[in-house]
Amino acid sequence: MASTVLDDECDYLFKTVLIGDSAVGKSNLLSRFAKDEFHIDSKPTIGVEFAYRNVKIGDKVAKAQIWDTAGQERFRAITSSYYRGALGAILVYDITRRGTFENLKKWLHELREYGNRDMVIVLVGNKSDLVDSREVDVEDGQSLAQQENLCFMETSAKENLNVEDAFLQMITKVFKIASQKSL
Ligand code: GDP
Repeated sequence: MASTVLDDECDYLFKTVLIGDSAVGKSNLLSRFAKDEFHIDSKPTIGVEFAYRNVKIGDKVAKAQIWDTAGQERFRAITSSYYRGALGAILVYDITRRGTFENLKKWLHELREYGNRDMVIVLVGNKSDLVDSREVDVEDGQSLAQQENLCFMETSAKENLNVEDAFLQMITKVFKIASQKSL
């Protein structure tokens, strides 16, 4: 089982990225996971932001550096350096905007073109609290994930549903791959 720790020592340090259309909730997912905060009117700053969180897995500590596009995706300005060296990714769409789901193929293509070959990708359908505005069924997310061999879950950054699980699933899988390679 994975649990989080606060100390600054770690056995593994790795880079992971958040990706997906603008306003799907990437920044709020990150602030929820890293700081347990949610912002109603988050205004994207331009550039790349990242946060760290230590996760204890067994007797080891993995430190995940999680990069956020910080609004760059609005200008299609994400460069290959954003993906470089990333071992894990959370690919986010908004369950209330069908278009953000349709664009996933484009993001997957980019992740696979620029990212690491063994990259662990977790597909996240965010804003699951907005049940009345749903435009993407859970089954659509599940079947894309199956087709593309991804982990999948729906989250709500607002209600703090499954956010921890989504990140921990990615971090634990990356850790397993990284620790097997260093044996
Ligand atoms: P980003 O551009 O992908 O980083 O998206 P943001 O994190 O800036 O969020 C865009 C908007 O969606 C903001 O107004 C957030 O408050 C809102 N938002 C993010 N996550 C959720 C969620 O889970 N539920 C609801 N209802 N709103 C959310």
